[in-house]
Amino acid sequence: MSQSTMQELRAQVDTINLQILELLNKRAKLASEIGKFQEEMGTTFYDPEREAFMLTNLELNNKGPFSNETIKALFREIFRASMALEEKQARAKIKVQRQTDDQRTIITLPDGTQLGNGDFTVISGPCAVESMEMMDETAAALAERGVKILRGMAYKPRTSPYDFQGMGEPGLQIARQVANKYNMFITSEIMDQSQISMMMDYVDIFWIGARNMQNSFLLKAMGRVNRPVILKRGLSATLEEFLYAAEYIVSSGNPNVILIERGIRTFEKWTRNTLDIGGVAVLKLETHLPVVVDISHSAGRRDIAKPLARVAKASGADGLMVEVHPNPPVAMSDAKQQLTIPEFHALMDEITDRQAAY
Ligand code: PEP
Ligand code: MN
Repeated sequence: MSQSTMQELRAQVDTINLQILELLNKRAKLASEIGKFQEEMGTTFYDPEREAFMLTNLELNNKGPFSNETIKALFREIFRASMALEEKQARAKIKVQRQTDDQRTIITLPDGTQLGNGDFTVISGPCAVESMEMMDETAAALAERGVKILRGMAYKPRTSPYDFQGMGEPGLQIARQVANKYNMFITSEIMDQSQISMMMDYVDIFWIGARNMQNSFLLKAMGRVNRPVILKRGLSATLEEFLYAAEYIVSSGNPNVILIERGIRTFEKWTRNTLDIGGVAVLKLETHLPVVVDISHSAGRRDIAKPLARVAKASGADGLMVEVHPNPPVAMSDAKQQLTIPEFHALMDEITDRQAAY
């Protein structure tokens, strides 16, 4: 074969490459149109029957020299690429999905305090409001260490209906009074949308607990309030389900959502739940919302609070949540995991000392 024939053949190959390229992109556009339609219909992008039909059709029409196996392998790659494109387009529409590396939602509270701005925020307070005295003593210690967001839980979703259910509105009154005294903000768990207007009088940040993460009516209602919302991951929720729950709030009009990883249910018994720190790292990649690590409910024990706090900080989370009680052994809920006030101070020393190391 002469040099010029070789060049001629190569030129033909180059032309065909460009034709294939054009056809591939033409095909991708059609596939993405189909993807949009599938999304509207609520069907999945992967349709095994359709894929089998296309492969059989290609086999029947294949005149070689490529074998049927080679042709099928090549087309499977094309199908996969189209599906990835459809999925990417669908994800781009999700409001909580991070679109650029530097996109972040920063929650700004009325005094200018921010969460999600790159600092490490501590949210703390007792598991539940039990009395004015214990709230005051706890808040005083927290305020001394610069904690701005105080747990003022008045409704407790307990496993047993015979356990302490929270003080109700009188508990919120106590929390509000104490928060005002120490210039703090109250976050408190809402159980039902019927409580919204009453709670607006007391609460700065609404809180949706793990058990309500998929209560879509409550999530939509939280989308209509003009206060930030803390959303906890469900007991056995996947990260995808967690983000879709946040999407309910954001797509209903409230962009100020804070996510809390609180441990998931696994076979492990030595901790109450299993802290999914990999999940925290993934959330930080996938969403622009602030992510906080609950080192209390994920562990169920106070003796590993320090290492978990260090891990939370190192994971890139925006903060941690820890329960603190003046006298944990007599606490009316979560007695085993709440830190004493001296333990809280030691924890704060730990994460502040190590700030430079990270
Ligand atoms: C809480 O943090 O008050 C709580 C009840 O935890 P969870 O909803 O994660 O179980
Ligand atoms: Mn608790």
